[in-house]
Amino acid sequence: MSTSLRQLRLTTNCHACLNKCCSEPYDWVYLTDAEQTAIELKTGLPRDEFSAVRENEHGQVTFRVLNLPCRFLDSRTGACTIYESRPLVCRVFPFYPEPLTGHATLLPAQCRDNIVFQPVGSTNGWALEDFDSEIAEWLSSLWSEAVTLHRINDHGTAEDQTPEPQGHHREPPTPK
Ligand code: SF4
Ligand code: SF4
Repeated sequence: MSTSLRQLRLTTNCHACLNKCCSEPYDWVYLTDAEQTAIELKTGLPRDEFSAVRENEHGQVTFRVLNLPCRFLDSRTGACTIYESRPLVCRVFPFYPEPLTGHATLLPAQCRDNIVFQPVGSTNGWALEDFDSEIAEWLSSLWSEAVTLHRINDHGTAEDQTPEPQGHHREPPTPK
């Protein structure tokens, strides 16, 4: 990703948006083992109740992903009911980090009028670079866990447990 994109500061008015990125998600919400554990602890639900093992058909790599539409979205209020424990993919939206490329895409169209780009030099809002170390750790965990999941699948003890999630806008991107 370019330096300027990483440093772009923004704010979002998610209340007004009623969480379009949750109700009409852009793509898979990849989950690390630690993120699944955090959601399990928050909700008391086992991970198979809210996520599935899925193979990315472009990279043919196996990951754990959130089942969509997300069961943790309160459709009446638009609130995330696991806000403090929500996955990194949710926390950095409208940036979308793609594990297959290691790059993040900016998706301002999902936010429409509910996004404000801050002037250069502003300290308001947040920037993707604020998440640099978290994203690096997340990518490292995802890939090491993907290797483990792949081995499990090879032995036939883990399978894709759910049908294709509803609400995806498109297939995962082709690696650049
Ligand atoms: S689409 Fe943008 S403004 Fe809307 S809830 Fe998601 S991050 Fe917030
Ligand atoms: S976990 Fe929360 S923020 Fe993420 S998709 Fe579900 S409702 Fe939205």
